Amino acid sequence: IPHLALADPDIAGLVEAEARRQFEKVRLIASENYVSPAVLEATGTVLTNKYSEGYPGRRYYEGQQNVDPVELLAVDRAKALFGVEHANVQPYSGAPANLAVYLAFAQPGDTIMGMALPMGGHLTHGWSVSASGKWFNAVRYSVRADGPDAGRADLDEVRELALKERPKLIFCGGTAIPRTIDFPAFAEIARESGAVLVADVAHIAGLIAGGAHPSPVGYADVISTTTHKTLRGPRGAMLMSTAEHATAIDKAVFPGLQGGPHDHTTAAIAVALREASTSEFSAYAHQIVANAKALAEALLERGFDLVSGGTDNHLILVDLTGKGVAGKPAARALDRAGIELNYNTVPFDPRKPFDPSGVRLGTAAITTRGLTPELMPRIADWIDQAVQAAAKEDDAALDGIAAQVRELLAAYPMPGWAQTP
Ligand code: PLP
Repeated sequence: IPHLALADPDIAGLVEAEARRQFEKVRLIASENYVSPAVLEATGTVLTNKYSEGYPGRRYYEGQQNVDPVELLAVDRAKALFGVEHANVQPYSGAPANLAVYLAFAQPGDTIMGMALPMGGHLTHGWSVSASGKWFNAVRYSVRADGPDAGRADLDEVRELALKERPKLIFCGGTAIPRTIDFPAFAEIARESGAVLVADVAHIAGLIAGGAHPSPVGYADVISTTTHKTLRGPRGAMLMSTAEHATAIDKAVFPGLQGGPHDHTTAAIAVALREASTSEFSAYAHQIVANAKALAEALLERGFDLVSGGTDNHLILVDLTGKGVAGKPAARALDRAGIELNYNTVPFDPRKPFDPSGVRLGTAAITTRGLTPELMPRIADWIDQAVQAAAKEDDAALDGIAAQVRELLAAYPMPGWAQTP
């Protein structure tokens, strides 16, 4: 029975429209993906009816006969997949997970350190408008401005700042970093300066799980990740650590910050972690990177300026300055052309964050749809044409590209949704 359509045709209609939109777009938003039908199904189960404050075997409500094993499975699978001693799967999302890390290891007013947001860091790593920037003395590092390592984290600056400022926590990782994160180098700096190293691998967790990016295990004291980006799970997050920090992290998540865990999400995380431990997922992770490298190459051939000159992972950051159009109008035009991405600051951006010079692309979602490296020149052509059309405000050209995009994607099924005629 189509319960939702009968009970609430407004919402049902919007959900269907969203499914079709996701089917018809080349989705290049670097933090997004398509979950499997099994993950989707788990998020819509009766587990949403349950309250289970606490941890397995130590709950504040009765009736945990099924929820406890669900959470234990998720925890055990996270530990096995990432090779960590401790995992907490309860954080509601990435931002609350990072707030729990602060609660576990710092006091208000303490010094903390992370990559500056406009350089590729995340809001929660100490940017001024976030609680992390308001409640702590946030020190921010940058990427190199020039030289062969331009656009990559400036580890000399990280060391200098860390030794001078002595932060309680150092965050590595971020939200617009196209290159491999040097966990051993960050670990050395953290050790030298007496800081806890937090690797926020939200973007690259799936690549790490699939062996397509080095792991922070053995280097970072704490690993924070969302579950819904390259890891291809439901919206949620996990905190992982050595056994030494297990109690501090668990206490910070609950009762420090959150109430009852979202058990339906926990179940879906468990399903996603099971999927991520297969050889098919490892092939998927490597294919994400192969697609990103092929797309980066094709964009370079078409005269696009890429931050750091390319990519090692799923993510490409394009500086559009030389193309005569800013990031925001380009992103709008690309969306009309059936190519969905987000406008983004580029390092040392002279423009404002709400109207920056660049766009950010990622290949996790299109790889799930089955797109392969041979198709990337075609996508780069469409991006090139759409950016030119954006500069000329040529909407007819954009609509023409969107029709070609729909035609291509019709051959690539969308997990969890069957197109109705
Ligand atoms: N950390 C990083 C590196 C991220 O990229 C993100 C999401 O964009 C987050 C944390 C926050 O995750 P959420 O949006 O689930 O709160």
